[in-house]
Amino acid sequence: HKKPKILILGAGYGGMMTASRLLKSSVYQDAEITLVNKHNYHYQTTWLHEPAAGTLHHDRTRMRIDSVIDMNKINFIKDEVKEIKTDEKKVILESGELDYDYLVIGLGSEPETFGIPGVEEHAFAIRSVNSVRLIREHIEYMFANYNNEVEKHDEYLRFIVAGAGFTGIEFVGELSERIPELCEEYDIDRDKVRVYSVEAAPTALPGFDEELVNYAMNLLESRGVEFRINTPIKEVKEDGVLLNDGEEIKASTVVWTTGVKGNSVLDKSGFETMRGRIKVEKDLRAPGFDNVFVIGDCALIINEEINRPYPPTAQIAIQQAYTCSNNIKALLSGSEKLEHFTPDIKGTVASLGGKEAIGLVGTKKLYGQSASAVKKMIDNRYLFLLGGMPLVLKKGKLNIF
Ligand code: FAD
Ligand code: NAD
Repeated sequence: HKKPKILILGAGYGGMMTASRLLKSSVYQDAEITLVNKHNYHYQTTWLHEPAAGTLHHDRTRMRIDSVIDMNKINFIKDEVKEIKTDEKKVILESGELDYDYLVIGLGSEPETFGIPGVEEHAFAIRSVNSVRLIREHIEYMFANYNNEVEKHDEYLRFIVAGAGFTGIEFVGELSERIPELCEEYDIDRDKVRVYSVEAAPTALPGFDEELVNYAMNLLESRGVEFRINTPIKEVKEDGVLLNDGEEIKASTVVWTTGVKGNSVLDKSGFETMRGRIKVEKDLRAPGFDNVFVIGDCALIINEEINRPYPPTAQIAIQQAYTCSNNIKALLSGSEKLEHFTPDIKGTVASLGGKEAIGLVGTKKLYGQSASAVKKMIDNRYLFLLGGMPLVLKKGKLNIF
């Protein structure tokens, strides 16, 4: 009698927590569990704006997978998923293939470019350790270059962040904290440096609490950030961006943060998607498949109160991992009664760099240092769920106030 095979794709918030829950609930004794990920480490996507700006080393945001998941109980394969063949219950990897009885898709998201020309070629993305390490080095290189050339290139010291959603705002917050340090290090006047936050909607953080948005914008402006609101970007060029109204801003660094779509592996595999995401059933299975679960940024779930999709967040990915692992356990024990997933949204907290942040927790608004402390506690709580106190002490943000 062969053990059923559970295959988890992606070691992000959703995949790691599913693996961890399946271990804790002893499912590994009755099934063969395999986790596949591009890298041999897990990184916390929600921290990536910090290493992107260089305010935190990227090693602080990642950990080796075998340091948190017991490799005697779960197989780990470092490889890239290329395609899922549901009719053959197979997953094609870059170097090989795997079969499964139960599949969990947790491959995360990709930047949404809306087909805008030049984004792929000329803009940076806050997406992975590899992509943010490149942003940090590029920024430093631009500072280093400025004084090294006889003819001064002001565009070297201009930074455009496309999209003032949470990712764009959090990155601009870190960057505005880092710039005075860079100016000091590379002997450059602060007023030579320009940081633009360019947003298509009539406000930064569209849809978020107005008072908190004002607080964030005022703070960032006081650090020298220039907002260009109501200003969609039409094209990214080698030397800057072209705005809808025809104006061009010259800049050697454009960071693209205009939202995300589901992993393109889903479209390639023939799933029906909306912006690359699979609209899952209440039990988190893909429609028409009784053995395929989809969680995190690859899953689309609707907020029925407003009849719109929930924004994809780590908060939801983590909660889905609990439901997903409970449902796999139920299926293995022959039960047909699966749990329905209902997100329990605790709130939203966004960092603004340094000890500044904003947040809405329930109906309570948080500003400044107290919001920043809550943000660090949220980050630490995840580490606690994944690896207990030892992981919090090793990788956590312990300097809370
Ligand atoms: P991820 O955590 O992104 O993990 C996906 C994993 O799959 C990665 O490890 C990746 O390497 C791997 N992978 C991808 N493709 C392949 C492939 N083809 N083969 C093998 N492996 C692959 N959400 C919040 O709730 N709160 C926040 O404060 C917050 N802040 C954020 C800040 C930033 C800067 C960003 C970018 C996002 C933030 N989010 C936040 C959103 C949150 O990060 C995502 O919703 C969350 O990471 C989704 O989890 P996931 O498990 O679906 O994917
Ligand atoms: P987003 O969709 O939240 O924001 C993208 C922004 O880009 C929007 O304001 C949009 O109007 C703007 N935009 C779109 N096209 C544009 C164009 N051509 N020119 C200029 N602006 C344009 O996406 P995001 O900020 O990348 O966030 C992705 C997901 O991650 C969201 O679900 C978000 O809630 C989540 N997230 C959460 C946090 C947090 O809770 N602290 C932090 C970061 C991200």
